[in-house]
Amino acid sequence: MHTFNAASIPLQPAPFLGDHAADVTLLRADLVHPVISGNKWFKLRYYISQAQARRQRRIITFGGAYSNHIVAAAAAANEAGLESIGIIRGEEPLQLSHTLQQARSYGMQLQFVSRSAYAAKEIPASLDTSDCCVIPEGGYGPEGAAGAGTLLPPAAGEYTHICCAVGTGTMMAGLMNACSPSQVVTGISLLKNNQELAGQVAALLHDPLQAVHLVHDYHFRGYARHTPELLQFMNDLFRQAQVPSDFVYTAKLFFGVRDLLRQQYFPVSSKLLVIHSGGLQGNASLPKGTLIF
Ligand SMILES: *Cc1c(COP(=O)(O)O)cnc(C)c1O
Repeated sequence: MHTFNAASIPLQPAPFLGDHAADVTLLRADLVHPVISGNKWFKLRYYISQAQARRQRRIITFGGAYSNHIVAAAAAANEAGLESIGIIRGEEPLQLSHTLQQARSYGMQLQFVSRSAYAAKEIPASLDTSDCCVIPEGGYGPEGAAGAGTLLPPAAGEYTHICCAVGTGTMMAGLMNACSPSQVVTGISLLKNNQELAGQVAALLHDPLQAVHLVHDYHFRGYARHTPELLQFMNDLFRQAQVPSDFVYTAKLFFGVRDLLRQQYFPVSSKLLVIHSGGLQGNASLPKGTLIF
């Protein structure tokens, strides 16, 4: 089993996101594994070790056709010697997405379910769920948050702010639990008007009364949508700093952080640690040639 040690995740100074007054560092968690990208392995680690400790045979989890979580779960289960089943939203397409092909190559059995069955998170009765570890969508849950908290490097205490992209809120909650109360975790939400998000994050906090700092202004028309401005930003960022980003998560995070810094959202002399949480899967759905990396 791969073990990622947060102490070995590269840190990269990121002046290109800030202005000269700000101290910004990237945590390059995208570099930990070619497939189990960024935060996903960290969110999965305790579900997997729990399944092993309970001597369960397989994991079952949920996702869409472009889900980073699905591929990561398939690869992590495979490495751990566990079987995996992915419950996939919607009809089986004639041509499987790159993501689903990859998940299948790790031995994941794909079970397509209607959107309504998916929304209810029903496990089809035809599946044998004995001996199974059921992992919620996106790894959302206390185990997922605890795993995500282990992303923080030993020197994390030096930073006043930790900035991350937020989907289910599992990673954000884990980071909040793992850092000190004087540090602020700022989450850039990737969903449009997701007013439930703060509650979802709070439900995973050790201290549920802690303030949840979410910014809702950088979803670029909604989850997994993009604009020419965002794609241009991604290419510029790569040209300037050789940092690849994805249009679902990290490009919106980086764009948001840069914009917030320009607006002086963060107090002067803040030190920011920005989590590059990986997730380059989604880019495969863009027309060839859109991105220069
Ligand atoms: C899945 C993912 C996220 C979202 O993490 P949550 O814990 O669901 O909020 C953020 N960034 C990347 C790159 C991801 O793949």
